[in-house]
Amino acid sequence: MQVFKFGGTSVGSPERMHKVAHLVTKNKTTKIVVLSAISGTTNALVKIGNCLMEGKQAVAKKEVASLRSHYDGFIKDLYGEEAPLHRAVEVLNKHFSLMEELCENAFTTVEEKILLAQGELLSTQLFHHYTLEQGHDAVLLSALDFMSITADEEPDIEKIGLKLSALIKEKSGHHLYITQGYICLNHLGDVDNLKRGGSDYTASLIGAAIAAEEVQIWTDIDGMHNNDPRVVDETHPIANLTFDEAAELAYFGAKILHPSSILPAQKYKIPVRLKSTIDDKAQGTLISADAGGTQGTVKALAAKDQITAIKIKSSRMLLAYGFLRKIFEVFEKYKTSIDMITTSEVAVSLTIDDDTYLGDILGELNKFGLVDVDTNQTIVCIVGHMVSEEKGVLKKVFDSVVDIPVRMISFGGSRNNISILVDSSYKERTLKTLNEDLFSKKVLS
Ligand code: ADP
Ligand code: ASP
Ligand code: MG
Repeated sequence: MQVFKFGGTSVGSPERMHKVAHLVTKNKTTKIVVLSAISGTTNALVKIGNCLMEGKQAVAKKEVASLRSHYDGFIKDLYGEEAPLHRAVEVLNKHFSLMEELCENAFTTVEEKILLAQGELLSTQLFHHYTLEQGHDAVLLSALDFMSITADEEPDIEKIGLKLSALIKEKSGHHLYITQGYICLNHLGDVDNLKRGGSDYTASLIGAAIAAEEVQIWTDIDGMHNNDPRVVDETHPIANLTFDEAAELAYFGAKILHPSSILPAQKYKIPVRLKSTIDDKAQGTLISADAGGTQGTVKALAAKDQITAIKIKSSRMLLAYGFLRKIFEVFEKYKTSIDMITTSEVAVSLTIDDDTYLGDILGELNKFGLVDVDTNQTIVCIVGHMVSEEKGVLKKVFDSVVDIPVRMISFGGSRNNISILVDSSYKERTLKTLNEDLFSKKVLS
C-alpha cells in the first residue's frame, strides 16, 4: 500500500483535480489518497472563524456566501455529467448550511474547529464523486473515524493503525481509499486538526500506522529545494535527504513539509517522496534513512520567522549548578518549547517561536537576573549530513555573514545543523549570501 497526499494547489482547480485522479489511477496499485482543502479554502475558513470570534456575523456570512460561489463555479467544470454534478450540489448544500448555522449561533473554539474541518470534508467528497464518474472503484474513508490525538495533542499511531486497518478490511477489494488530511478527533471526541499544513502529517501518520511502502507528498514544486524559493531565485531540488535532514528543514521553516511530518515516517522507516503535480516527470526528493551517497555536504538552508530571543544575565550563574534547570522549568511550566540555546559564564540566550505565554515567562525569569527580549527574529538553519565533518564549513558561514549582525549561533547540537539567529530584516540578505557562498561557488560539494 502506498500513501499519496495532494496539497491545496494540487486540487485547487477542476483541471488539477482531473490530473490528480489521473495520477492515482494510472496504475492499479492500492493507494490511500489524502487530500487537503482546495487552495484558499482554509484561509477563508480561518477568516470566517476570526470574524465570528469577534462577533462580526454579517461579515462572516458574506465570506461564506463568497466561498460558496467559488465552489459553485468549481463543480460546474469538475464533472462531465449531470448525476455527479447533482450529488456535488447536495454535498455543497449540506456543508454550506452547516457553515451558515455556525454564523448564527454561539461560536467557541469547538465550533471553530468544526468550521476549519469543512475544507477537507468538501474536497474529498467532490474528488470522490469525480473518481466514481470516471469509473474507478474508489472508497471515501472519514478521517474522523480513525485519526485522533491524545490530550497532549499527540497522535497514537498504534490506535490509528488498528482503526484504519479495520476500516480498510471492511471495504476490502478496492484500489483507491480517499481520506481527509489535517482533520482528526481530539481526546474529548470533538473535531480538531493537526495545525496548518497538517495534511502532510496525516499522510505520514497513515504511512506509519499501516506500514506503507512509501508516502508520496505531491505539491506545486519539484521536491525540497536547497533554499527557500519564495526568497531566493537560484534554488534547485535535492534528490536525496535523510530523515534527520528533512526533519530539521521542515522544523526550521521549509514550508513544503509540516514541521512534524517526518517524525512518524522516520520512526517506522517509511520512505517519503516529494513530487510535483505540475511536473510529474521530475525526479523530486526521496527522504529515507540512507544519505544517498552525499555524506559530508551542506544540502540546504531554511528560515523560521517570528522567533523571540530571550537573554537572562545573572552573576548567580557563575560556577553555579542548577541554574539552567530553574530556567528550563519556567518554559516547561508554560508548555513553551525552546529552539536554540547558547550559554556563557554569566548569561544564557534562548529562542522560542510561541510567545503565547511570553508575559508570564518573563515575569518568572525576572527573578533570576536581567532579562532582555528581542522579537521579530529569524532562525536561519544550515542543514547537511554530518556538517561537523566538513572542513571549513564554519569559516565559510562566518565569512558569508560577515556584514550581518548575528544575534546567536548554534552548532554541534546535532551533526545536521548549524543555526544562526538574525533580526528578520536581515533574513533575505542572509539566505541570499549563504546561497551564493555555500552553493553557487560549489566550494562545499
Ligand atoms: P501544499 O499546499 O501542497 O501543501 P505548500 O504551499 O504547503 O504546498 O508547500 C509548497 C511550497 O513550499 C512551495 O510552493 C514553496 O514555495 C514552499 N517552500 C518553502 N521552502 C521550500 C523548500 N526548501 N523547498 C521547496 N519548497 C519550499
Ligand atoms: N488545509 C489545511 C491548511 O491549509 C491543511 C493542509 O493543507 O495541509 O493548512
Ligand atoms: Mg503544505
